[in-house]
Amino acid sequence: MATADVLKPDFASHRRHFIFTDEHEQLRESIRRFVVKELQPHAEEWEETTFPDWVFTRMGELGFLGLDKPEEYGGQGGDYYTSLVLAEEMAHAHCGGLAMGVAVQTDMAMPPILAFGTDEQKQQWARPAIEGKAILAIGITEPDAGSDVAGIKTRAIKDGDEYVINGSKTYITNGHRAHAIVLVTKTDPDAGHGGITLFLVPMDTPGVIREKRLKKLGMHASDTALLAFQDVRVPESAVLGQIGKGFYHISWELQGERLIGAAGAVAGAQHVFDRTLQYAKERQAFGRAIGHFQVIRHKFAEMATKIETARQMVYTTAWRFQNGEYPVREITMAKLYSARIAVEVADECIQIHGGAGYMQEYGIERSWRDLRLNRIGAGTDEIMLDVIGRSYGL
Ligand SMILES: Cc1cc2nc3c(=O)[nH]c(=O)nc-3n(C[C@H](O)[C@H](O)[C@H](O)COP(=O)(O)OP(=O)(O)OC[C@H]3O[C@@H](n4cnc5c(N)ncnc54)[C@H](O)[C@@H]3O)c2cc1C
Repeated sequence: MATADVLKPDFASHRRHFIFTDEHEQLRESIRRFVVKELQPHAEEWEETTFPDWVFTRMGELGFLGLDKPEEYGGQGGDYYTSLVLAEEMAHAHCGGLAMGVAVQTDMAMPPILAFGTDEQKQQWARPAIEGKAILAIGITEPDAGSDVAGIKTRAIKDGDEYVINGSKTYITNGHRAHAIVLVTKTDPDAGHGGITLFLVPMDTPGVIREKRLKKLGMHASDTALLAFQDVRVPESAVLGQIGKGFYHISWELQGERLIGAAGAVAGAQHVFDRTLQYAKERQAFGRAIGHFQVIRHKFAEMATKIETARQMVYTTAWRFQNGEYPVREITMAKLYSARIAVEVADECIQIHGGAGYMQEYGIERSWRDLRLNRIGAGTDEIMLDVIGRSYGL
């Protein structure tokens, strides 16, 4: 700088992060327009009814379900950051259950099909899923095993050129509406981690029973199922990936799920922060806007710092992932930290709203209930801590 101009902080500047290009920003704008115009107005209604299947059809038509998926199967062939943009923009629907249902489709069930599936499986399930014509679910958790994936009991036994599957899965997102499920089973109960195999099971196969629609604390717009598998016969071609490699396939899947979950948690935290900031500027007490009390101002400062830290962790980790690394430790840290701060932020936003924060009509308590899942789903805080700790050889 040639002259000694006085530098003033420019708090209003919004320089985009270096991982994003003009194309990403255009994509962001078009997703935001769609989300705000076509999804967000239904958020209240879908809390009662769960979101309708046409959301998948519409998002498929718009190309939003295959942003980073191969063009060969109908995707847009974009980089990993495009799916990050989708996860961030879905927060503007103010409907956590909707964002989760879509993320299960795009970032949880679809990736293992594309990574480990045969061309036939990809044509049969990934292509229609990208087009929004098929809905997918992923079944890992069981009534007796969640964190302990190797402890699952669902059995797949070879019988001639078929497999017979028996067992149950619980808390399955999209479980009531799905056309197919990526199912984690045990093919060899004595082989530990090496005895797990994935199957791609059409949900209309005889013996697949959608037992119960589960009621939950938040994420009301999503459907969550208890599923039973009773003598479900599938051909050998339903095996997804390699026999006995299912644990490793699903561990890989969980990395993508966690990073996208972290991005969604940060965006959710930012969304509830923005709404609360607006409220704090308008709500008056003792003759001034409540945001002008130092104690409230500091709450915003703390929240903003945490959100920004989490966002930087997500972006840096995504950058490493996009550039060919497999940064499991950092993904785990980003998931842990983003989930925690999202819940802290939502909780503080309820406090700043006072009684209004506790009332349904303001939607802040909904953010808290929805965001709370982040500390449990896709691996609990405790499991994240264990993964991080073990990564240091402990
Ligand atoms: C709304 C919702 C949607 C979901 N969607 C899906 C889905 O689509 N597909 C799917 O497969 N699953 C889904 N899940 C399941 C979710 O991933 C599991 O709930 C989660 O992994 C935890 O498993 P668990 O509930 O069995 O808890 P548990 O494993 O029983 O854990 C109970 C407690 O023990 C702690 N704990 C367990 N093991 C350890 C350990 N080694 N060290 C320290 N603490 C430990 C946990 O951290 C937790 O606090 C969903 C869950 C919810 C609530």
